[in-house]
Amino acid sequence: MQTCPGSPWPGVIQRYRPFLPVGPQTPIVTLLEGNTPLIPARALGRRLGRGLQVYFKYEGLNPTGSFKDRGMTLAVSKAKESGADAVICASTGNTSASASAYAAQAGLRCVVLIPKGGIALGKLAQALIHGAQVLAVSGTFDEALELVRQITQAYPIALVNSINPHRLEGQKTAAFEVCDALGRHPDYHAIPVGNAGNITAYWRGYREYFKEGIIDGLPRMLGFQAAGAAPLVKGRPVARPETIATAIRIGNPASWEGAIEAKKASGGLIEAVTDKEILAAYQFLAGQEGIFVEPASAASVAGVMKLGKRGFFRKGSVIVCVLTGHGLKDPDRVIKTVRLPKTVKPKLGAILSEIGL
Ligand SMILES: *Cc1c(COP(=O)(O)O)cnc(C)c1O
Repeated sequence: MQTCPGSPWPGVIQRYRPFLPVGPQTPIVTLLEGNTPLIPARALGRRLGRGLQVYFKYEGLNPTGSFKDRGMTLAVSKAKESGADAVICASTGNTSASASAYAAQAGLRCVVLIPKGGIALGKLAQALIHGAQVLAVSGTFDEALELVRQITQAYPIALVNSINPHRLEGQKTAAFEVCDALGRHPDYHAIPVGNAGNITAYWRGYREYFKEGIIDGLPRMLGFQAAGAAPLVKGRPVARPETIATAIRIGNPASWEGAIEAKKASGGLIEAVTDKEILAAYQFLAGQEGIFVEPASAASVAGVMKLGKRGFFRKGSVIVCVLTGHGLKDPDRVIKTVRLPKTVKPKLGAILSEIGL
């Protein structure tokens, strides 16, 4: 067992073991993921008004900087239990960052297929430094995933995309944490949607806590896709998905049915937000809340802002927005979004005049 005796947090498998498909024989591969903060969203709450209580579930604080670690701890533990010596995934970036880190810890080989030119620099750096074999496929994520499916059907290499059921089982622990922190269920749960595994996993987590009587109600699930990659909103796959939010640039979500089920059964919705709205929310989070996320993560906040303007939320409700990944993942987007530093002479007068003193 890799958990540290003095650490009060043992990672998501140990913490939520009764809810997860692990036995005494399962080797636990963990980087002590989970236990991420639920941060009161003061600026967003003020902007929305109506006594709404808004919280951010900041998943960027997981070990590799995204929620993918919750599912990867279980997927890699189960791969190891089954005797696999290699794992493979297609990835828009964060799955590969997470798979490569957990594979490194488990001593497994890791192969990653990425859409060429379609992944953020930080994520690529992570996969490479953890020693994964990274292949840039000159095609879309959806094509890369199809290839990975074919490979894992024919060869003994464990697939760790979210079509691996253990991924969603691990990811549902985030819903448990939200309820444990609030002492109740949220009224609304807002989340970015790409391959749609995470919305499926949260909904499962809430339902399981409800079934156990730990919470006495369920949130309405609010999923947000980027307008250029919104198959669930359009009702059909998108052949050439386009958005600056690369983590959700997916045209044919693997968990399509799970997302639709979460929406319908919860009385929720799945809507699109434009890149412009995503970038506005991205800058709002960094500038007003002090929270730096990657663009895809800002889709949940962009969606809540949009619904707030329409007066969608019932007064005094509790809203949880998932912030799926850390801003440092995609430094290029910052550089393209902000004004860059001005060069000044090393003279006191020049600096004082610049800063207005
Ligand atoms: C993977 C990912 C998503 C999309 O999650 P799905 O489960 O594919 O819907 C959103 N944001 C970030 C940062 C991600 O890494």
